[in-house]
Amino acid sequence: MDFPSRFDVIVVGGGHAGTEAALAAARMGVKTLLLSHNVETLGQMSCNPAIGGIGKSHLVKEIDALGGAMALATDKAGIQFRVLNSRKGPAVRATRAQADRVLYKAAIRHMLENQPNLWIFQQACDDLIVEQEQVRGVVTQMGLRFLADNVVLTTGTFLGGLIHIGLDNYSGGRAGDPPAIALAKRLRELPLRVDRLKTGTPPRIDGRSVDFSQMTVQPGDTPIPVMSFMGSAELHPEQVNCFITHTNERTHDIIRENLDRSPMYSGVIEGIGPRYCPSIEDKIHRFADKQSHQVFIEPEGLTTHELYPNGISTSLPFDVQLQIVQSIKGMENAHILRPGYAIEYDYFNPQDLKYSLETKVIDGLFFAGQINGTTGYEEAGAQGLLAGLNAARRAQELDAWCPRRDEAYIGVLVDDLITMGTREPYRMFTSRAEYRLVLREDNADLRLTEQGRELGLVDDARWAAFNAKREAIEQETQRLRSTWVQPGSAQGQAYSAQYGTPLTHEYSLLDLLRRPEVEYSALVALTGGSDVQADAAEQVEIQAKYAGYIERQQEEIDRLRQHEQTRLPDDLDYASLNGLSNEIRGKLADVRPETLGQASRIPGVTPAAVSLLLIHLKKRN
Ligand code: FAD
Repeated sequence: MDFPSRFDVIVVGGGHAGTEAALAAARMGVKTLLLSHNVETLGQMSCNPAIGGIGKSHLVKEIDALGGAMALATDKAGIQFRVLNSRKGPAVRATRAQADRVLYKAAIRHMLENQPNLWIFQQACDDLIVEQEQVRGVVTQMGLRFLADNVVLTTGTFLGGLIHIGLDNYSGGRAGDPPAIALAKRLRELPLRVDRLKTGTPPRIDGRSVDFSQMTVQPGDTPIPVMSFMGSAELHPEQVNCFITHTNERTHDIIRENLDRSPMYSGVIEGIGPRYCPSIEDKIHRFADKQSHQVFIEPEGLTTHELYPNGISTSLPFDVQLQIVQSIKGMENAHILRPGYAIEYDYFNPQDLKYSLETKVIDGLFFAGQINGTTGYEEAGAQGLLAGLNAARRAQELDAWCPRRDEAYIGVLVDDLITMGTREPYRMFTSRAEYRLVLREDNADLRLTEQGRELGLVDDARWAAFNAKREAIEQETQRLRSTWVQPGSAQGQAYSAQYGTPLTHEYSLLDLLRRPEVEYSALVALTGGSDVQADAAEQVEIQAKYAGYIERQQEEIDRLRQHEQTRLPDDLDYASLNGLSNEIRGKLADVRPETLGQASRIPGVTPAAVSLLLIHLKKRN
């Protein structure tokens, strides 16, 4: 494979955003370079060794539906799988996997190294080549110049990274890795709004010094869930348990007594931290009346004793970290393998981006991941895939693509970011999506794989598997619709005996399945069985049971969609629009929404203002 003299797309950074971006661009058939500090850290999990969870698994499955890597890597690396909210409705069910870090990185690297059209190079990117507001390439630390008209930056927590442990701090991208100082300086010269955020991680514990008998065992689910639509439980390595313990009054006293040594509470850290992943000192401060917090003890892998104590992220000094850890049940003699720390870094206001994740001011320059103010591997991966895809489409002179809010959580994520921006690390929740009932994790493939195929992201094997599943769902639904059960028949009597309600007249199996107490598996067992695969059967069941709600949500989506996609011209002069308040004019001019739908979601932009915009557009045309 010759090393090209110029590329179509260069991706800087080999974390979760960067690897999905590089893979997506290369899958699209364009010459792609992945430039990252260190080949050994491709796909590295900076913080907790887990993928998925509420809101996040939806993103992972959407990435997967579009041919991405994260879900399959999780299936190959997952050492414990659970479905959260399994007793609640399908909209909020979420698969979560504990991953072996080493296996995860290996799976990602294997995919990268075997991806046609993708070249990998280990070097820091120190500079961008920009000519008249168009990016032309990058310059590395050694002074090597790589040329491309499309560059995707996915630099994570590394831009101007400053690591804090107690009142001491030093430059770093994350523990053990260098920061990106030169590139941060260069980016601050561009007309983009930049600010600081912070995040933190707990100390890691040596499992040999922990008394697990003092903790509650938390096993994985059986049958073992699967993350990828192309995955299977056979791909999973050995499965292990997690454990639960708790902080206590003594832990909280230690933290309170030492708050003056916390970089957060002494004012040393300026960046805002993740609200939904707070440090333990933050939790004690904010929820002062709580006497205990859960700590999940999660194994870091199959070949290490290292444990991740989820819930005690901290930037307190090391001696305090040790006291905190040893105050917790089961960890009285615990040995810390790596200290916890906080990190501050530069991020760019995502309101300066288009839907494609291309910056509005430098053509061909895309941002994805933590650089846009998000937190989490899944949020990063989703943006990476989108930016990589759109960088490749730009190279192919095609229009950008982004799913709408009613099509995918990826659409919700991007729309939230570019419309509202973020002042604190943004993470995904199911509550951020208006159309939760149609945006389920279980139907991500049905929502996106066909589009992924048209875009060139989905390979033949996935496409064939998807079509087989779609056909099986249709056939089985049709079979249930046209199979009738008579009250006096053997099947009718079996039904009445099982559910204690006699059938008053004939029903189709689909009608019976719609009853809340009837499960697909039991119904099929009563009525002669079926050889439909579990994933297709799940869809048949969900679609039957929630049909009414889903249809209503779909009608609402169709109604709103009418104006949602109406484009607002780039040159629209908001200052000259009559009837709008100065405040609303200012907000519109600031965000420069691309569509009427986006304008309507800018906080403070009223429905009346949107109607005025619509009238103005009609007059203009
Ligand atoms: P990263 O995964 O950070 O990857 C960035 C990549 O870019 C790295 O490979 C790096 O080497 C490379 N790179 C950077 N600059 C350059 C350059 N100039 N040249 C070449 N290569 C470069 N997420 C949560 O959801 N919850 C948490 O509680 C949480 N805590 C965290 C705590 C810490 C201490 C850290 C470091 C991260 C934490 N995260 C947390 C965040 C999570 O790790 C990130 O959201 C996720 O990794 C972001 O992915 P990314 O691809 O944007 O960046």
